[in-house]
Amino acid sequence: MAHLSSGFADSISEDCIKVLIVGAGPCGLSVAKALQNRGIFPDLIEKEDQIRSDGAGIAIPANGTWALNQLGIDIGSNALLIQSMQFTDDQGDILAQEKIDALHPEGAQFYSLGRDELVKQLLSHLDKRTQIQTSTTLNSFSEENDKVLVEFSNGKIKSYDLVIGCDGVHSSLRKQIHPNELPEFLGLLVWRAVIDAPEEIMMPTYMLGSDRLVLLYPMPSNQTYVYGHIFQPEKRLPTQGFSQVFSCFGGLVPNALHTIDQQNLAGKNVHYYIHHMEKSHSVRFKLDGFSRVLLLGDAAHAFGPMLQNGAAQAFEDAYVLQDLIENKMKSEKVTAFIEAFEKRRRERVQNIFAMSNIKIQAISDPQQIQGRNEAIRKMGAPNVHGFRLIMQQNP
Ligand SMILES: Cc1cc2nc3c(=O)[nH]c(=O)nc-3n(C[C@H](O)[C@H](O)[C@H](O)COP(=O)(O)OP(=O)(O)OC[C@H]3O[C@@H](n4cnc5c(N)ncnc54)[C@H](O)[C@@H]3O)c2cc1C
Repeated sequence: MAHLSSGFADSISEDCIKVLIVGAGPCGLSVAKALQNRGIFPDLIEKEDQIRSDGAGIAIPANGTWALNQLGIDIGSNALLIQSMQFTDDQGDILAQEKIDALHPEGAQFYSLGRDELVKQLLSHLDKRTQIQTSTTLNSFSEENDKVLVEFSNGKIKSYDLVIGCDGVHSSLRKQIHPNELPEFLGLLVWRAVIDAPEEIMMPTYMLGSDRLVLLYPMPSNQTYVYGHIFQPEKRLPTQGFSQVFSCFGGLVPNALHTIDQQNLAGKNVHYYIHHMEKSHSVRFKLDGFSRVLLLGDAAHAFGPMLQNGAAQAFEDAYVLQDLIENKMKSEKVTAFIEAFEKRRRERVQNIFAMSNIKIQAISDPQQIQGRNEAIRKMGAPNVHGFRLIMQQNP
């Protein structure tokens, strides 16, 4: 298990590059594992006082589990295998039902699990030579003489051969160098929660209203991940709670709302994570003026969750890094590695970025949903079509 410290010891490996990872979310932790697999033990900083995620659920599509497997991480034993999914209208009439267990050419599978569990599993793969410093950010960073000089928030200064920004959609590294590339609102207000599993939820079920959507996603330990969003042209805070906003839905929703009521009455209060959905301004792996700083995960490419590929793309980033980086790579190879990384990743990520954002808007924007249900009846689930495209080839 990685060593959580209050200050970095001097470099452990003198015979290869020194790497700093900023942000210990799904991306930072999987990238640390990829580096370890190449004999490089990075320093990691995390702004929160603990390594954790919020308590909601997450779906990992087969391309994400494939990438994790290449890193030597198997989430299967603490996750729920997902083999089918369905789309219904807001009253529960089925529009499309699809098997998804044979989408990946190498047999990788879809899973769901708690976000906290995912982070716990990633963390458990880190070696004690990988040092993590919590409650820490960067005050500043600059590149000179083939080194990146960083000043941490505790005032300490250290130099690295490579800095990897995995600090999420609001990446501080990206903001400092490209202040105009701010995240963009996708027009959706989102509620997420994990509840005791209501009866009858056999598979992930996307329920589509005219300007809102509910997704009920089975999870391990007899729980259900509940996701709801409502279309909002401008950012506003909710004026109603989740149960009110989705009380007009039929099908599986009344039962889920009843379960929520029962849980609240029993004192097991359901906690909702509420936020405005954002995407990154554009796909960006490199910072102008820097040849030894790489952005990965949401810092480089955040998009809507329709294709459930945010974390999955972070894991693909980690896999490609592992594939391109040499064992115990030396400092003089860093710039060429970053160039090769961007060349290999740009087109695929750009395509998934475009597909995810178009689909999430079309699914709930009242201006765009004319004929939507009919089209799904005829052509099948829109996300499954996207999964097929993504899984046609490995990253
Ligand atoms: C509503 C919603 C549902 C989603 N559902 C799915 C899904 O089902 N499947 C899926 O694959 N993806 C999903 N995603 C996307 C997924 O959550 C993200 O793509 C994923 O979390 C990205 O990981 P990351 O590590 O790049 O960024 P983050 O998860 O944002 O982690 C960034 C980390 O960096 C830390 N940090 C931030 N700033 C600093 C700083 N200055 N210094 C140090 N540390 C810092 C943060 O505290 C955090 O720990 C969803 C996203 C949303 C919004």
